[in-house]
Amino acid sequence: MRRVLAPFLAALLAVATLVPRALQAQTAGQNATAAAVPANAPYKDASLPAEKRVADLLSRMMLEEKATMLSGSGWMESAPIARLGIPAVKMADGPMGVRSWAGSSAITNLPGAPLKVLATSFPAGVAMAATWDTELVGREGQAIAQEVKALGRDMILGPTVNINRVPLWGRNFEGYGEDPYLAARLGVAYIHGVQGEGVIPSVKHFAANNEEFERHRIDAHIDERTLHEIYLPAFKAAVEEAGVWTVMSAYNKLNGAYCAENAPLLDDILKGEFGFKGFVISDWGSTYSTAATVNAGMDLEMPGGPPMQAMLASPRSQLAGNSGGWLAADKVLAEVKAGHISEATLDDNVGRILRVIFVSGLFDHPHTAGGEVDTPAQQAVARQGATEGIVLLKNAGSLLPLDTAKIHSIAVIGPNAATARTGGGGSSLVRPKYAVAPLDGIHERAGSGIEVKVALGVGIEGEDAGKDTPEARAILLKEATDLAARADVAVVVVGRYSKLEAESFDVKTMDLPAGQDELIEAVEQANPRTIVVLNTGDPVTMTKWIEHTPALVEMWYGGQEGGHALASILFGDANPSGKLPVSFPKKWEDSPAYGHYPGENLKVDYAEGIYVGYRYFDTKNVEPLFPFGFGLSYTTFEYSGLKVSPGKVSGEQPVEVRLKVKNAGSRAGAEVVELYMHDGHSKIDRPVRELKGFRRVELKPGEEQTVRFTLDRAALSYWSPGKKAWVAEPGRFDIQVGASSRDIRLRGTLELAR
Ligand code: BGC
Repeated sequence: MRRVLAPFLAALLAVATLVPRALQAQTAGQNATAAAVPANAPYKDASLPAEKRVADLLSRMMLEEKATMLSGSGWMESAPIARLGIPAVKMADGPMGVRSWAGSSAITNLPGAPLKVLATSFPAGVAMAATWDTELVGREGQAIAQEVKALGRDMILGPTVNINRVPLWGRNFEGYGEDPYLAARLGVAYIHGVQGEGVIPSVKHFAANNEEFERHRIDAHIDERTLHEIYLPAFKAAVEEAGVWTVMSAYNKLNGAYCAENAPLLDDILKGEFGFKGFVISDWGSTYSTAATVNAGMDLEMPGGPPMQAMLASPRSQLAGNSGGWLAADKVLAEVKAGHISEATLDDNVGRILRVIFVSGLFDHPHTAGGEVDTPAQQAVARQGATEGIVLLKNAGSLLPLDTAKIHSIAVIGPNAATARTGGGGSSLVRPKYAVAPLDGIHERAGSGIEVKVALGVGIEGEDAGKDTPEARAILLKEATDLAARADVAVVVVGRYSKLEAESFDVKTMDLPAGQDELIEAVEQANPRTIVVLNTGDPVTMTKWIEHTPALVEMWYGGQEGGHALASILFGDANPSGKLPVSFPKKWEDSPAYGHYPGENLKVDYAEGIYVGYRYFDTKNVEPLFPFGFGLSYTTFEYSGLKVSPGKVSGEQPVEVRLKVKNAGSRAGAEVVELYMHDGHSKIDRPVRELKGFRRVELKPGEEQTVRFTLDRAALSYWSPGKKAWVAEPGRFDIQVGASSRDIRLRGTLELAR
């Protein structure tokens, strides 16, 4: 788009011809004095359209001022221009709540770190994805935005919509799972929630940040169709549907070029194809050039100023491969003067930042700190998310929900039982005012009539080396099995935590950390009434014990309310309704990306193409342990009466698919109804099913509701690299509606006419 002058730029240039001579001299690169700004300058008038304000303000800016705006002034602040009243955009990391903006997560996550910011810790992205509840994710975005404002900040660095390609990605917990449609719906909801509050989100990381291994150097090679069908849709929807105000580029390279200076990605696709009007921000410390970066479509480099210098000087960042400082004002000015960056391009960059400052309301209503955070309303959203996100994976013999009339004692066991593991590690980890561990939640809910006792069972790597000796392990295991043997029920809470599952490195193995499989096996032997609870962001291998496990629950990282949420599911106060946003393979070797990860010589080939997650398992007939979209309930649901109308369409005509869902059990519950499409007549290779719709319905016992979906042409289309367009082939499409990708209950057809 920078190469083909956009209409927006043309308009700006037209306005530039109207500016006073003194300012024209400045835009020609001379060092002119700034003209005084009248109190009634149009850009200060909140009643004018943003575009007019942008044009007016740009016309008053000196070249130096424009160049200054292309890099941050600090760790989390863009550069203000005091003379013109342009505020700094004050950022904070997300996406699961507001975290300290004082420095990198390596500093602010340290136990004794100064400048703590205590805010509500919401469930991890993967847990929110497991709710399939767009309305709730919207309220989460809104609640987080309210905390951003209350803390005097303007921007939250989220949502993360990168696809879960490999079960080992250290940041899977942050994203919305393996399916582009689900990630798109949830990302859009989050962004609407944030922007509705006048807070600026940043959808990240654009694009294909799907592994942490050498994240600053790795080059992801992805064919055009796969990119459009799997890795870009959530960003496309963020731009086209939510009108997202900022996009953060990824650390990695994509098809040979760093994402921060990737013209096909930023300029052609994001700003051209998607029509993005906001600004692109670099991930922290990921620029490698000045003119190439600016010309490729980067608008704002972060961080900037002394914090950038400090980061670049740190051996840790050097080792990791951070690079930056390339969009500092002096470097940008030099390139403008040398003719390598055009003034129109610079105006486009600055215009984009200004546009967001105006449309978000930041210019007219700056946010001031001192508001309330972690209010009961915000806590309630966090709790609802944690509860709805819990997935019941197995419940043999209806061990769950626990019957308090029959239970007198519960043994709560495991390294994640008494400690609240609220989130994965890195820049998303929020410090809450309080956090409820599984043990706390169970204790509180059990009340005085039930004895609740705890045993660690096994230490977890990185916490206490003293618990890691063979002797200590034997003692811990014996304590746990003795306790389990004496109790009516055992709840074993296993998993990882923020030091084992985090940004900046991948998990080494799909297996649970050392000693946890053995702990589960031993406890199950001691007490057959054992419930295993997984507190992880990724699928884990369960081969050693799953057959003997009567009840299995995935609680993910549930944020500060995780323990309450778990207890409400275990005791049946809430009926589980979460469904997996990611397939659980039996083992890593079954995963579609196995053999194509982490790549060789810093290059990773996405050789599995569009066959990511269930698209692979279902099309290639590889049985997963638990399929995408799967989750049990304490009630049962019946599907009936699928109708497709009209059954034959042409052009852009939408289609309505409706069916009835009935709660056939005796408990109220919610069912997520999933709609998949298949094009069996295609000239090209297409997966046997692709998610194109879902609805979460709450049903009382015996209640029946009609569920409606609207399908448009996009639901039938694939990306044609030849035509550089989405193509829907005339012919018959199969509609599959079910309770998971492998539990299709109803089928119908739709004919697309020529
Ligand atoms: C992460 C981003 C984060 C940024 C600022 C980077 O390391 O990849 O997601 O927003 O740091 O903390």
